[in-house]
Amino acid sequence: MTDGPRHLSCDVAVIGAGPAGLSAATALARAGVGTVLVLDREGEAGGVPRHCGHPPFGLREFGRVLTGPSYAARLRDEARSAGADLRTSHSIVALLPDGRLDVMSPAGRIDLRARRIVLATGMRESSRAARAVGGTRPLGVINTGALQAYLHLEGLVPFRRPLIVGTEWVGLSAVSTCLRHGIRPVAVVEAGRRASAPWPFSLFPRLAGIPVHFGTVVQSIAGRERVEGATLRHADGTVRTLACDGVLFTGAFVPEATLARTGHLRLDPATGAPARDAAGRSSDPCVYVAGNVSGAARSAGWSFRDGRAVAAAVAADLRALPRQAQAAGDRPREREAQP
Ligand SMILES: Cc1cc2nc3c(=O)[nH]c(=O)nc-3n(C[C@H](O)[C@H](O)[C@H](O)COP(=O)(O)OP(=O)(O)OC[C@H]3O[C@@H](n4cnc5c(N)ncnc54)[C@H](O)[C@@H]3O)c2cc1C
Repeated sequence: MTDGPRHLSCDVAVIGAGPAGLSAATALARAGVGTVLVLDREGEAGGVPRHCGHPPFGLREFGRVLTGPSYAARLRDEARSAGADLRTSHSIVALLPDGRLDVMSPAGRIDLRARRIVLATGMRESSRAARAVGGTRPLGVINTGALQAYLHLEGLVPFRRPLIVGTEWVGLSAVSTCLRHGIRPVAVVEAGRRASAPWPFSLFPRLAGIPVHFGTVVQSIAGRERVEGATLRHADGTVRTLACDGVLFTGAFVPEATLARTGHLRLDPATGAPARDAAGRSSDPCVYVAGNVSGAARSAGWSFRDGRAVAAAVAADLRALPRQAQAAGDRPREREAQP
């Protein structure tokens, strides 16, 4: 026999405590919309910047250049002092119609009902599996987000001579992070004919003495326990194997839209992100979409501003509704189970 879920309700539930979710929560709490609950599956709020031990974050928002962890701390402090309730280690496992969320928390399942929901679950880099790379499956194949987490959160160095895949901004950031931690990439490969990041920044790996191969893809990875090499296929059809002890797949971001995909929200066929209008409202009038989950990989500052703009639309929407029977308070309210 198992206990049933706990039943909670709040005025706004924000899913995801990254720059978009936290700036939305701060603005909503300041607007006095009632209870604002922010839920994140990680052990600490702050989203991707929490892992990024480098600048630049926060220039337009806070008027100074911060590292990712300082920026994340500032966002958390602002949300808490505005009155938002931040709950970490809370994973949303289903987004249902009528403002209902199925939440897994350390204390068990919660059936949460909110008058409005802000979906701010961000983006993630495409995995090895999504890029259809063959070969063995040794340790040392990761994304930039994981590299940042190893180095900045765990104090671990996952490899010393990795191959870096991709030349978006995040790929250049990965090269810089590696060099600062004594990691020497053996090469950078890019499937396209030219770098994705703009010139002159795209010159950075070459200026650092790292070979860059355009029109090149990783065909397979070799190694028993750890990565020992990667087989590359060049645009002219030639194939060669490069010795390395890790493969870092960077960029090729996809929206973290599992909740939208497995739920009832309409998706934008071009991006796979939940479709939204100019105010951020999704196909369900109870659900708004903010930050990078809305489709394009943008900066933290853009996500912060988008979260704030979406919060203004949510607050206006709630003001137009008749006040609910339950009195609004500063804590989420326990409610009776409903079918
Ligand atoms: C390696 C790297 C370096 C970067 N460097 C910079 C930089 O120097 N400057 C800059 O401006 N930008 C940088 N960016 C971009 C910046 O991090 C993003 O633009 C920003 O974090 C997006 O904010 P967001 O709130 O939309 O999403 P995120 O920061 O991704 O936050 C989403 C949150 O949602 C949570 N979540 C997802 N699904 C669920 C669920 N089902 N239940 C509960 N919680 C969930 C996640 O745990 C996460 O905390 C970098 C990005 C990367 C990957």
